[in-house]
Amino acid sequence: MFGLEEDWELDPPARYFTLEDYEGGVARWCPGCGDFGVLTAVQKICRDEQLPPEKVVAVSGIGCSSRFPHYMKTYGFHGLHGRPLPVACGIKSRRPDLQVWVATGDGDCCSIGAGHWIHAIRYNMDITVMLFDNNVYGLTKNQTSPTSPQGLKTNTHPRGAWLPPLNPLQAVLGFTNCSFVAQAVDWNPPLLHAVLEAAYHHKGTSFVRILQRCPTYTDQVFHHLQHDPAQLLLLQHEDGLVMDEKIARIFPNKSGHDPSNMKEARAIADADGGEGAIPVGVVYRDPTRPIYDEFTTVGMGMTADQKIEALGQELDRFAI
Ligand code: SF4
Ligand code: MG
Repeated sequence: MFGLEEDWELDPPARYFTLEDYEGGVARWCPGCGDFGVLTAVQKICRDEQLPPEKVVAVSGIGCSSRFPHYMKTYGFHGLHGRPLPVACGIKSRRPDLQVWVATGDGDCCSIGAGHWIHAIRYNMDITVMLFDNNVYGLTKNQTSPTSPQGLKTNTHPRGAWLPPLNPLQAVLGFTNCSFVAQAVDWNPPLLHAVLEAAYHHKGTSFVRILQRCPTYTDQVFHHLQHDPAQLLLLQHEDGLVMDEKIARIFPNKSGHDPSNMKEARAIADADGGEGAIPVGVVYRDPTRPIYDEFTTVGMGMTADQKIEALGQELDRFAI
């Protein structure tokens, strides 16, 4: 029966997992799409951590980046638009032994899925959420998304997006029980790998916004950032992102931001999208926040008989 621990225990022979063990179908994103880099980073982390593929699950909603589970040779769930987070939380609530990676886009997460976004952050289950933010609805061919910059010409706003864009870092830091917020760019593989690795190791919901190139529709948005590392501000701290010195050297702008400082984290998020350099690294981290799967999984090791007995005892409380 589903939900009993003895039913999911496999005993495969021990062996070393290579990258191929995590590589699913051939990715069908446009040439130059930033999604490729994120996929590779996740597969490398799975390999580095030697996660058994049957203990990994990739969950997504709808959008270009939501094809992610098809390209992982692990368990996967390609869900409904805006709904990856309830699926991911459901999985984690009954299968705490699985490593859950969520792929969601700016339309998927910040628009139709925004209600789920708030509550998933509050649940703070031990999952990693990757927001692929290309500032546009790509799969449905170029509509304004919540993060589209003002003035961006799209099919829904041919004269330019009208409203100021939603700032995902600012939003997520305002959600109750938020425990990990980071930002990365897809075009710097060592940085992306280090940020996702920090997110993976955080216990609780790790939210990572990834600025993601979409050469088909929003090439102009990130183009100026790609060739000038001075446009980025590297946040480094022993409790956040620890970068190899050889890699850190290429960033002229650095900050020793302490990610436990919420006030500073909010100031960094508020400035993001303004005139200054774009922050990359761990913006906020609090490992002491309550984690909901520690509650939902109480009693998971009980046998069927123990569960029935416990249920009987609970029902007896209502006997008159
Ligand atoms: Fe990537 Fe944009 Fe092509 Fe979608 S439309 S696959 S986001 S480049
Ligand atoms: Mg998008």
